[in-house]
Amino acid sequence: MKIIKGRILQFVGNPFELPIEKSVKFYDSGSLLIKGKFIEEIDDYSVLKKKHPGADIYDYKDNLITAGFIDNHMHYPQTGIIASYGKRLLDWLEKYTFPEEAKFKNIDYARNISSLTLDICLKNGTTTMASFCTSSPTSVGVFFEEARKRKMSVVAGKTCMDRNAPKDLIDNVQSSYCDSEKLIKKWHKNDRAVYAISPRFAITSSPEQLECLGSLWSNYPDCIMQTHLAEQKEEIEWVKKLFPKSKTYLDVYNKFGLVEKNSLFGHSIHLQDREIKILEEKKSSIAHCPTSNMFIGSGIFELSKLSKNNINIGLGTDTGGGTSFSMLSTMSAAYKIGQLNGQSIHPAQLFWLATVGSSRSLNLESEIGNISEGFYADLVVINLKSTKEIEQRAEKATNFWEEVFPTLIMGDDRAIETTWVSGKEALK
Ligand SMILES: [Zn+2]
Repeated sequence: MKIIKGRILQFVGNPFELPIEKSVKFYDSGSLLIKGKFIEEIDDYSVLKKKHPGADIYDYKDNLITAGFIDNHMHYPQTGIIASYGKRLLDWLEKYTFPEEAKFKNIDYARNISSLTLDICLKNGTTTMASFCTSSPTSVGVFFEEARKRKMSVVAGKTCMDRNAPKDLIDNVQSSYCDSEKLIKKWHKNDRAVYAISPRFAITSSPEQLECLGSLWSNYPDCIMQTHLAEQKEEIEWVKKLFPKSKTYLDVYNKFGLVEKNSLFGHSIHLQDREIKILEEKKSSIAHCPTSNMFIGSGIFELSKLSKNNINIGLGTDTGGGTSFSMLSTMSAAYKIGQLNGQSIHPAQLFWLATVGSSRSLNLESEIGNISEGFYADLVVINLKSTKEIEQRAEKATNFWEEVFPTLIMGDDRAIETTWVSGKEALK
């Protein structure tokens, strides 16, 4: 048994619905009892130390311990093209993304980038991510294998696309069904892996492919369905031309049975009221990807409006369209986009988006995303004084949130003291 000691932040309610003080529980001298992979008890250190005198102690002093970050939307095969210059979404896919993704038929290349990306994520305090792979099944298998080596829970799937992409990347209706199903049978709920049926977006899937993936999902409804929605205006115009009978972009997915509780829509910036209503009715989730929205120039996400409509929202880096693997940098960007939209997102709400909100999107809210008894011990230990600039500001703080905020706005991987996965320290 292990006891992890530090300052502990736990959610007991949703800070978008309740006053902050009623949604958060804070232990200033807290501790967690870890048994195997799981959190067994949470209490003040003095209490747990007395109860379990034989436990190994990991003393993180005044560092903050929260649930590990969950990146709700990313593309691990795009790690090699992060920070590519000068294009908007559709040109960016053509110039940078597709040529890079074509390399992932090579198993060694796919394994190297899988391994690199997972290590970078752990260094940044991210313990789970939902990632698109490429259209090659090889890219999915090695990603799950590398995650399993690290005892991480990852959500991933083969990107399906049968049109409007280069020949060497496209699949077809039948192969997308068969390859996805084979991967589901091998990987879904295998140890900590979760499969996501993943049409890239409506532009690169024919109606027949979307229909067939809808039917696949109805056979495996506890898989996640991840795709993109209403990211850029040019994209929406093209979708209108490809699906002239659909009233909205979301209607395209809805028609084929792809809008349900386990649907996770990346971006969702330019939504019509009708689309918001359907997302609310179906209890679908949205992955907000603020660094990507700024970098590719996609637009201003309406967090306040969507959360008032009871739509669950998580936070994603969207690397390589996003500009950082750090969920701290991503929280900082979410705050800035909120400001542009007239909303000052509270630090507790930023943490919620990066942990509980993201876990709900992945149907994993009873296992990860919070510090709770029986949950996996997937944790991040955060140094709130990681640089001189942050330290001098944190020292002037008059309350806890004021002390945390400089790290959320200015912090990066230097603030990550360590990361725990499945009850073990993942970084040493
Ligand atoms: Zn994306």
